[in-house]
Amino acid sequence: MGQGLAGTCLAWELWNRGTAFSLVDSERGGSSRVAAGLVNPVTGKNFEPSSRIGEFLPDALGFYHQVEQQLGKTLWHPLPMLRLADTDKEWHKMVAKSTRPEVARWLANAGAPVTVAGWAGALEVTGGGRLDTRTFLDESREFFRQLGCYQKAEIPADHPAGNRIWCEGAVGLIRGRFGPHRCAKGEILTISADGWDESRIRVGAGGWLVPLGNGRFKAGSTYEWNDLNNTPSTVGGARVGAIIRRLGGADFEVIAHEAGVRPILRRSEPLIGPIGDADWMFNALGSKGSLYAPGMARRLARWLTEGIEPEPEVDFRHFSENQS
Ligand SMILES: Cc1cc2nc3c(=O)[nH]c(=O)nc-3n(C[C@H](O)[C@H](O)[C@H](O)COP(=O)(O)OP(=O)(O)OC[C@H]3O[C@@H](n4cnc5c(N)ncnc54)[C@H](O)[C@@H]3O)c2cc1C
Repeated sequence: MGQGLAGTCLAWELWNRGTAFSLVDSERGGSSRVAAGLVNPVTGKNFEPSSRIGEFLPDALGFYHQVEQQLGKTLWHPLPMLRLADTDKEWHKMVAKSTRPEVARWLANAGAPVTVAGWAGALEVTGGGRLDTRTFLDESREFFRQLGCYQKAEIPADHPAGNRIWCEGAVGLIRGRFGPHRCAKGEILTISADGWDESRIRVGAGGWLVPLGNGRFKAGSTYEWNDLNNTPSTVGGARVGAIIRRLGGADFEVIAHEAGVRPILRRSEPLIGPIGDADWMFNALGSKGSLYAPGMARRLARWLTEGIEPEPEVDFRHFSENQS
C-alpha cells in the first residue's frame, strides 16, 4: 500500500518474481512526487559518502535500467556534480576529505580542484545523477494499472491487519506508527533560466541546482521540522530563491513551487520488516529514496517470497527492540 518510491520499487520486485500483488494508493501525493531524484555519492556538510553507496548505487542503477527497458522511457539521467565550498573553512575540510580512498573514488580528475569565480573552491563528483521520479511513478502506475494490479483507494489507518505492506511514507511516521520520528518538510522550485550551465548539478550554499534540460532546473531544498505539511510557504520559497541566486544567478523565472515531507526515523536509513501479526512496513527512506528504495525493495521481496531475512540494521524488528 502506497505508490511512492518504496511501494513502486517493491511492486517491480514482486512483479519480476511473478508474485501476485495489488498496489493501492490514495493519489493524494507524497514526497516522491516532489523529490528532485538526486543521487549524490558524496553528500552533506561533512562531504561524506552515503552509507553503503558502493552496494546500493549499482543496485539502484541496474534496477532503473531494467525498468527503463520495460517501460521504454528514460528515467535515470547521469550527471557530474560540482560541489562548491562557500568558505575557506569548508574548502579545507573538503580537501582533507578528498584524500580518503572512500571519497577519492568518486572524484573526477583525481580530485583536482575546479576554479569557480566567487567560491572558495570546488570539486567534481562523479557517479551520481537524477532519477526522473515523476515519470518513474506515473509510467509504473500506468503499467500496473493495465495489468489490473493497481487501484486508487485510501486505506484507513485503523484497517484490520492482513497481508498489507505499508509503504505510506511520512504520513505513517507522523501518525506515530513506528515511534518518534524526525520527518522534515522540504520545498523545491522549478525554474527556467537562459544560458546557465546545464552540464553539471551544482551543490553548495546549503542546497542544489539540478539541470532538467531545455533551460529548466530544479532547486532546493529547505529542512523544516515543525510545520509538516505539503503546502509551499513564502519563507521556504524565499530560502530556495536565495540558493538559486548563489548557485546559478539572479535572472530566472519560477515555474513551480512544491513542498513535501521526507520520511525520517533515523537519518536517511530505511527500514523494512513485519509489524504486528500479518502486516509489513517499508519506510524511512529519508532524503535518499532514489538511492535506497531499489536495494531495500529487493531485500523485502526476498524476505516475503523466500523467507531470506536482511541485515539487522535494516530490520524494523531490530530497530524497535533497540527503541524500547
Ligand atoms: C523537497 C524534497 C526533496 C527531496 N529530494 C530528494 C532527492 O533529490 N533525492 C532523493 O533520493 N530523495 C529526495 N527526497 C526524499 C524522497 O522524496 C523520499 O526519500 C521518498 O520519496 C520516500 O518515498 P516513500 O515511498 O517512502 O513515500 P511517499 O513518496 O510519500 O509515498 C507514500 C505514498 O503512500 C500513499 N499513501 C499514504 N497513506 C495512504 C493510505 N492510507 N492509503 C493509500 N495510500 C496512502 C501516498 O499517496 C503516497 O503516494 C526529497 C524529499 C523532499 C520532500
